[in-house]
Amino acid sequence: MYTGLVALTWGDAVMNLELSDEQEAVRRLARDFVEREVAPHATAWDRAEEVDRGIVRKLGEVGFLGLTVDEEYGGSGGDHLSYCLVTEELGRGDSSVRGIVSVSLGLVAKTVAAWGSEEQKRAWLPGLTSGEYVGCFGLTEPGTGSDAGRLTTRAVRDGDDYVIDGTKMFITNGTWADVVLLFARSTDAPGHRGVSAFLVPADTPGLTRRAVHGKLGLRGQATAELVLEGVRVPASALLGEEGKGFSVAMSALAKGRMSVAAGCVGIARAALDAAVRYAGEREQFGKPIAGHQLVQELISDIAVDVDAARLLTWRVADLVDRGRPFAVESSKAKLFASEAAVRAANNALQVFGGYGYIDEYPVGKLLRDARVMTLYEGTSQIQKLVIGRDLTGVSAF
Ligand code: FAD
Repeated sequence: MYTGLVALTWGDAVMNLELSDEQEAVRRLARDFVEREVAPHATAWDRAEEVDRGIVRKLGEVGFLGLTVDEEYGGSGGDHLSYCLVTEELGRGDSSVRGIVSVSLGLVAKTVAAWGSEEQKRAWLPGLTSGEYVGCFGLTEPGTGSDAGRLTTRAVRDGDDYVIDGTKMFITNGTWADVVLLFARSTDAPGHRGVSAFLVPADTPGLTRRAVHGKLGLRGQATAELVLEGVRVPASALLGEEGKGFSVAMSALAKGRMSVAAGCVGIARAALDAAVRYAGEREQFGKPIAGHQLVQELISDIAVDVDAARLLTWRVADLVDRGRPFAVESSKAKLFASEAAVRAANNALQVFGGYGYIDEYPVGKLLRDARVMTLYEGTSQIQKLVIGRDLTGVSAF
């Protein structure tokens, strides 16, 4: 089992950090894809506040929207480490594009694959994995973010249907989505025990979407508010059992945090590459700024953040692939990698001096995009509470 020179151990496990030939091939494919289809457009998409929607089909064609999903349902298979390699590369190119995959595949398709009936898998997975459909994840509401268990959207049983009313806020892919994985209160059980998950076609009458504009970062991403007024879905839209919706949401987010972490490694790597290149070119005091020790400190801090964030992320992927518990490790990876991405982009901006502050150079966008990573899919404070609960056995929620 231990064949490489470099290995990590935790518990009784040994992880070989050498990538397999297949994983290397996936990484190369993702790098080429990002160089060709994403990086050249990232600044323009950011300025236009809209990623070209054609990217979704391209992501589907190359197999990135089907990673880890069974080929039987249109997926491209592969392991979770490969998924992290792809999300890292996409995060390096443009976090707005990375988010499309992390949500449509990571939060929606993978959750349908894990919790869906045969009928639901056949109805949604081929479309989501090919890029014909886009999925979004509707948990947050105007009044409930961190405290999602108290959401107020209601699904009331009416014969063979449910009728849903409520509002969802900050929904990634929201204006583009064909299907909403929606969380609503369907029983009188208190708190999270009353929540159920539904697969709601986005064109169902009564569902309206409003684009959220003016974001600090992720400007190319289609973020929306969803308003549901008398939205009628058949009982077969229920994903998993009634009252188990919060478990569905938390299982999705546990894997989702790994994907955010991998995207953050990509941001930090982009910051590192940009800082090293610029430090070699820019001269002050008669020599390249790379020759000033305090500039080297900024760059080396970024490099350590990249490596540490990546190792934490790969550990999660390894645990998932071996069927081991991973939720707390995923919170650790997301907490560290998101804070590291902000630090890395900020350090890179410092290396660029005043030029870093204008959007002709890439580092300002990296910092703006990184900033949300410590907020969504559970803020840094919420990750600390998850980790603290695991260590102490006491829930602070
Ligand atoms: P609040 O929960 O109000 O938190 C405010 C502050 O209080 C934070 O600092 C928080 O850490 C702190 N806080 C709250 N409770 C505690 C506590 N118990 N202890 C200590 N500190 C606490 N949601 C979706 O459902 N789907 C999406 O696709 C999605 N995409 C998003 C995209 C973007 C660009 C953004 C900005 C958000 C997105 N969200 C999405 C919502 C996101 O997950 C929430 O914003 C996040 O969970 C925080 O909720 P909140 O904004 O209501 O902040």
